[in-house]
Amino acid sequence: MPVSHRLASYGTSIFTEMTRLANERGAINLSQGFPDFDGPEFVRRAAVEAIGAGHNQYARMSGVPPLSRALAARWERLTGQAIDPDTQVSVTNGCTEAIAATCLGLLNEGDEVITFEPYYDSYKPCIEMCGAQAVVLTLAAPDFALDCEALARAISPRTRAILINTPHNPTGKVFGREELEFIAALCRERDLIAVTDEVYEHLVFEGEHVRLATLPGMAERTITLSSVGKTFSLTGWKIGWAIASADLSRCVRSGRQFLSYSVATPLQHGAAAAVGAGPEYLDRFLSNYRQRRDLLCDALEEIGFVVFRPAGTYFVLADHTPFGFQDDRAFCAHLVDEIGVAAIPPTPFYDHPEHGRPLVRFAFCKRLETLSAAIERLRRLRPRA
Ligand code: GLN
Repeated sequence: MPVSHRLASYGTSIFTEMTRLANERGAINLSQGFPDFDGPEFVRRAAVEAIGAGHNQYARMSGVPPLSRALAARWERLTGQAIDPDTQVSVTNGCTEAIAATCLGLLNEGDEVITFEPYYDSYKPCIEMCGAQAVVLTLAAPDFALDCEALARAISPRTRAILINTPHNPTGKVFGREELEFIAALCRERDLIAVTDEVYEHLVFEGEHVRLATLPGMAERTITLSSVGKTFSLTGWKIGWAIASADLSRCVRSGRQFLSYSVATPLQHGAAAAVGAGPEYLDRFLSNYRQRRDLLCDALEEIGFVVFRPAGTYFVLADHTPFGFQDDRAFCAHLVDEIGVAAIPPTPFYDHPEHGRPLVRFAFCKRLETLSAAIERLRRLRPRA
């Protein structure tokens, strides 16, 4: 098939591939990150009511006013920064579209964007679709720390932006305040834009989630992206947003209007109900996930993996080399074919695949029964002496 030069090398997303294999083989799917339980009833009901109330035509391009207002109020609750819902909040089809729209609205041919591997799979193709280039720095096991010197060295006259994801998929790293202060200082000194993907912002088990936009001088140069999918277990709704200064929001919107133009209207009304949720919901959400994280990580350790217990997100990376496989793909093929569990081989998230070969990613956004059944199967793995 004559796929364009820019996209041909990317093939099919590893998430699509592993979920398809899981379904074909009847394996328990701990690969693609989507919950096997439903989002909260009050949110789903709000969307159903919006359909009944006739909210079914194109929405305002930047988002329906009740959602824009709810997101601005939420941002002020979380950061203390008051923002204008009409000019600083842009609703998108999931954070994935927000990333694409941000790149399209911000980047010129030849620009460079610094980002970190393992990266989320859409970052590089989105940057490259704009004729720009990704400059990729490694977050290496075991602690996935930011190499500040390498970052400072990577900035060139062509650098336009730094794209970071915190809490970080797939490592589970939560960027520390000092790391973010270092990034912020570089952005101020070298006049760079920061783009932060914070979709796991409410899944922080250890430490604190620091929003780059709250550091001195960063509100005017940061585009903060997030979504309802993870926090409200509604990944299929594809409701995300970008929060930024009016100027930067104009960039995001200029890209967005030619992608999907607007976002499903009734689901935006449902999302407005979600983002108003108080701390009772978020506390219960986090403690449910802490239980799942500990259940899976404890079991993986017992089975013989070297586990990098995540400080955030609903993913865990583990080192599979005690089981004697050649690389991540061979290990994941064995898991799905012989053990009956699907996981993600992380090399597609690397420019330097040697860092990903010893690793495997498991998702724990699943019912406790699902995790227990997967653990039972994984116990059939035997470390090689
Ligand atoms: N964010 C999800 C994950 O990391 C996948 C999203 C997708 O399939 N594109 O598993």
